[in-house]
Amino acid sequence: MAKKVAVIGAGSSGAEIAYSLYKKFGKDVFIDVYERNAYAGGRTHAIEFAGQSVEVGGTVVHSSNLYVLELMDFAGVKEDLGAEILGQDSGEFWFWDGKQVYLRAKNSTISFAVNLIRKFGPFSSWFFRSHALKSVGDWKWVYKLLDEETFTDSHELVKALRLQEVTSESLAKVHRKKRINPKLTAGFCGAITQNMYLQDENLNAFAGEVGLAGAGLVGGHLFAVEGGNGNLFTKVLDKLAEHGVAKVNYSTAVTKVTPNSVTLSVPNADGNTKVAGYDAVLVAVPFELSGITAETATGEPIDIPLRDYKEVHVTLVVGDLKLAYFGQSADTQKVPPDCIFVKANQGLPYKSIGLVAKTSDGKNVYKLFSDEPLAEQVIDDIFTNVTDKIEWHWQGAYPVLTPTDNWQKVQLTDGLYYVNGFESAAASIETNMVAARNATNLAGEVLG
Ligand SMILES: Cc1cc2nc3c(=O)[nH]c(=O)nc-3n(C[C@H](O)[C@H](O)[C@H](O)COP(=O)(O)OP(=O)(O)OC[C@H]3O[C@@H](n4cnc5c(N)ncnc54)[C@H](O)[C@@H]3O)c2cc1C
Repeated sequence: MAKKVAVIGAGSSGAEIAYSLYKKFGKDVFIDVYERNAYAGGRTHAIEFAGQSVEVGGTVVHSSNLYVLELMDFAGVKEDLGAEILGQDSGEFWFWDGKQVYLRAKNSTISFAVNLIRKFGPFSSWFFRSHALKSVGDWKWVYKLLDEETFTDSHELVKALRLQEVTSESLAKVHRKKRINPKLTAGFCGAITQNMYLQDENLNAFAGEVGLAGAGLVGGHLFAVEGGNGNLFTKVLDKLAEHGVAKVNYSTAVTKVTPNSVTLSVPNADGNTKVAGYDAVLVAVPFELSGITAETATGEPIDIPLRDYKEVHVTLVVGDLKLAYFGQSADTQKVPPDCIFVKANQGLPYKSIGLVAKTSDGKNVYKLFSDEPLAEQVIDDIFTNVTDKIEWHWQGAYPVLTPTDNWQKVQLTDGLYYVNGFESAAASIETNMVAARNATNLAGEVLG
């Protein structure tokens, strides 16, 4: 008889668990996925706006993300190299501190390098990139490692990848130790990490370096998934359902997990909210964002230390940038930048501004990140000819990525596993899927 597994969450991690269980056990496993929303994808989600589909969550995937590529292959979807990937229109980037555009570059490695060297000196410009390349290089070992080993604690995985220093120290501190110009760390790297995580250069160095990779600074190429990133996870789960190995229970919130049961927030047909009889249960959502508690098989509460999460507001605007607001000549022929990286800690209400799409009649669609809703006046200051605007709110987007030596466990007790503790290192689609693969491998040990 097929083993029964419950997976909580149908985001990238939940889809990765379901896929890798199928890969390992074929039809010898049946997976019940419980998803609070009426759709899959979680923090990868696109909305319809101004006639376009625009990502409001996880957007950029790096070509070194092997598990994403594996799922794309399984689901039969392709890369989309569209406008959401930075630098697809004018190819120009600005770095802005509220008073001046203090750095600008074209979307070419040479132009970037020349401008960085001019501004911050050759040593720092070379060294920050080579350090980021080293961390990304160490990270790539993860695929081989997970083929051979399992980790019951995220900290053990971090240590095995030689990423302990970069997860326990800030990007600013690691750069200081390497004598990288602090102006480069704050003015360049900090503006990029703010764009990625709304956090400055004091976030943990690994997250910072993942952010630099996401901005295309460590080679490879960036893409989104054709049809939307969330669509990938929907397709994977649909395909597994077609194979008869999974069922996704949408609009079904879980309130409690044990190694062999889940408790639902809504009664089922029998009036019974507890579904028991699982051989393993995997939680693929941060406890902080889920309202779920965990217990051992004998009903002992499992204590999970909770982290702070960043709240993020995503504002989409159809309009033209007011170049004069950025201290530029109001010459209408001038091509606006594709992305404005905003220096952290300047008291600005928005944290980044990026061109993400074009409407069918050629108007620009911009995406702004902020930690509070943006006032009308802010939009009026930055844009002219605004024809449409919408806001999306993430109550918890990613953890506050402070340097840490305290990690939430992966194996909460025998038979009960947790993915998202690893988000303390860096929250991205692939890093979460890596954590999901490790949790699946652990569950595999009890599923036999
Ligand atoms: C604004 C933003 C921008 C980002 N940009 C990028 C980027 O460019 N590139 C990148 O790689 N990453 C990016 N990320 C991060 C990336 O999106 C996330 O790390 C990743 O999608 C998390 O996947 P997950 O499956 O682990 O968790 P989630 O996506 O959060 O999935 C968890 C699922 O569990 C469900 N759930 C919650 N509680 C319950 C419950 N009680 N019962 C049942 N189901 C429940 C949720 O509805 C959700 O669907 C970004 C994130 C945000 C918010």
